[in-house]
Amino acid sequence: MSDGHPQDLSVEAQGAAARAAALRTRLNASGPAQLVRAPGRVNLIGEHTDYNEGLVLPAAIDREVWMAFEPWDRPEVELTSVDFGEPLSFSFEGLSPETRGAKRWIDYVAATAWAMRDAGLPIRGFRGVMDSNIPIGSGLSSSAALEMASSWALAVPGAPRPDAGKMAAIAQRGENKYVGVNCGIMDQFASAAGVAGHALLIDCRVNQFKAAPMPAGLSLVVCETGSLRKLEASAYNTRRSECELGVKLIAEREPGVKALRDVDEAMLERNLSRLPEVVARRCEHIVREDARVMETVSALASGDLDELGQLFAASHASLRDLYEVSSPELDAMVEIAVAVPGVVGSRMTGAGFGGCTVSLVKHGSEEALRDAVLAQYQKKTGLQPRVYIVAAVDGAGPIHDQ
Ligand code: ADP
Ligand code: MG
Repeated sequence: MSDGHPQDLSVEAQGAAARAAALRTRLNASGPAQLVRAPGRVNLIGEHTDYNEGLVLPAAIDREVWMAFEPWDRPEVELTSVDFGEPLSFSFEGLSPETRGAKRWIDYVAATAWAMRDAGLPIRGFRGVMDSNIPIGSGLSSSAALEMASSWALAVPGAPRPDAGKMAAIAQRGENKYVGVNCGIMDQFASAAGVAGHALLIDCRVNQFKAAPMPAGLSLVVCETGSLRKLEASAYNTRRSECELGVKLIAEREPGVKALRDVDEAMLERNLSRLPEVVARRCEHIVREDARVMETVSALASGDLDELGQLFAASHASLRDLYEVSSPELDAMVEIAVAVPGVVGSRMTGAGFGGCTVSLVKHGSEEALRDAVLAQYQKKTGLQPRVYIVAAVDGAGPIHDQ
């Protein structure tokens, strides 16, 4: 394809039909196989706000987990990941966080099965094969995509399916309790509820969303820093407790404050001097980041590119200086991006300490950004970057191609 549409630039553009056929061949099913897909996600803005009952603005992206499977009568799942080769399996009998054995990738599927059953949803066993073009462990939510694809494969056809927000909460609970990862709800929600051409304004207090159209003429570019996120889990938990302490101290003077979501600028100002210095900075980030999410939704709607650039810059600076979850590699990547003509805004995305940046780029400037990153990033950091030009796609579900 060469009609100039930005999606044509996708690094690993792969025909859907070819992908489905390859999975079916690999599955070697006795009858017609079923197919489900679930996208990864990139967060445009609203970082670390989800566990503060705040606002986030992710988009589901055309980097996806695909699963081909045939249901069977056994209460068990046997699944092969093309990335890992050997099939893994688990049984529904005795499935619980207490009896989980050594860590395996199929835990994400078992976690979803456990959480669905625990929520009263019927599940069925299957034999399947999956592939994924979501980079693993880069912050584009390969784990949530695996969970949401699993939720579709496990579901009993005809049984009532909870809406995307509820299904996301179920999968999140599985990842929290069964896998043991203390994530917020954004990743599962974005993968479940994505709307093509739109970002999703998710209110993590009530688990509801509104689709926010991306302006025509802008592309989303994700740059992977290639740096390890090894500090992430412990720092993430520390940040969560710092926010909780902030809520506790502010609530002593401000009745009705249950989460940082309830704190506005004026309330924050009144209380800043009562907070330990570090906690004050964490709270400042969250309160202003929530406001920036709403401002970004307005700027996307009106196509105000200057405003978008400023909001992205302010978010990155706040994550770097106040919340302290950026890294030299993320900062270097953003610095390279914002110097490229046609780049409207660029910031770290995801929990931080490595992973990816997200950039809003005018159509036609995607390759200039890719070239600048490939030419400069490795010299600055010694690490190999990857650049993904992505499009906002629909959320997880069955693929009907036969
Ligand atoms: P991410 O930011 O990509 O979600 P996580 O550490 O949360 O990173 O999740 C990555 C984990 O999800 C992997 O270690 C693996 O267990 C599972 N996973 C992701 N993609 C695949 C895949 N293609 N095949 C098997 N397991 C996968
Ligand atoms: Mg994950």
